[in-house]
Amino acid sequence: MSHALNDSYELYNGVEIPKLGLGVFLMKDEHELIEAVKSAVEFGYRHFDTAKIYGNETYVARGLKESGIPREEIFLTSKVWNYDQGYEETKKAFQESLDKLETDYLDLYLIHWPAEKFVDTWRAMVELYESGKVRSIGVSNFQIHHLEKLKNEGLLQPMINQIETHPEFPQNELHEYMKRNGIIHESWGPLGQGKSDLLDSPTLAKIGQKYFKTPAQVVLRWHLERDEVIIPKSVHRNRIKENSELFDFKLTQEDMHEIALLNTETRYGGNPDDQERLKETSIKPSK
Ligand code: NAD
Repeated sequence: MSHALNDSYELYNGVEIPKLGLGVFLMKDEHELIEAVKSAVEFGYRHFDTAKIYGNETYVARGLKESGIPREEIFLTSKVWNYDQGYEETKKAFQESLDKLETDYLDLYLIHWPAEKFVDTWRAMVELYESGKVRSIGVSNFQIHHLEKLKNEGLLQPMINQIETHPEFPQNELHEYMKRNGIIHESWGPLGQGKSDLLDSPTLAKIGQKYFKTPAQVVLRWHLERDEVIIPKSVHRNRIKENSELFDFKLTQEDMHEIALLNTETRYGGNPDDQERLKETSIKPSK
């Protein structure tokens, strides 16, 4: 078994994505975010997941700069928000993200949600990819029917789909579809976003006890056993470290079956088919 924290999966275009990254959703405090990024780099994280809508791309850039890590050693993801979707708008939003992140390329750019103009957005993303400005492209919160729609456009297939996934919402059908089609499954909310009692589950405590691991570590390892990319978020140094200590143990088939029983089909985040929400978030607020 590999013990390397920077283990990676290969996307269908040959680009390697580290299995573990740090998510920075809701990290609004500049100092806190910079310290989190620096701790993560210190503990071996080489992958960071942000988005324009998080409003913290400049802080991520600062954290990476202060950590002293060379740009080429980092895998950096950002996402185009709903009100920036459309062909021209996406290209503009991409450049804005590059400027804020103080870089001239991204490792991964994602369509954040399947808003109305997602096909035009994808056309722009494919062009950005083919011009070499981004090493890989993908989508987020896409259901099977959204992926099928893209398939019928005769464009490139997304390399990744970043979707809410945790033991209470394993997305088994979508997971299998993506596996069949060679789309890497990236999990957001891998710990249930702190909105769930998941980590208090006796099942996870019992399994963790066998391996000297916490419930959070068992959940994160469950994702890895399913070949998912994970981007758990924490601002706490001890948790950032804890969430990286996943590569020195393995779950058995029996452990996996027990965790599968925690499935309650509960989403804690938005539903990608909630058209009202997609519409509302596609309107650019006036300044
Ligand atoms: P998460 O599942 O990573 O949960 C984070 C919360 O879990 C923390 O705030 C903390 O309360 C708790 N936690 C973290 N480590 C812990 C530990 N070791 N022990 C106990 N509790 C712990 O949820 P998330 O932040 O929503 O998701 C991760 C990342 O995914 C985000 O930061 C963001 O980058 C991305 N994301 C993407 C989308 C999308 O639509 N594409 C949506 C939400 C999040």
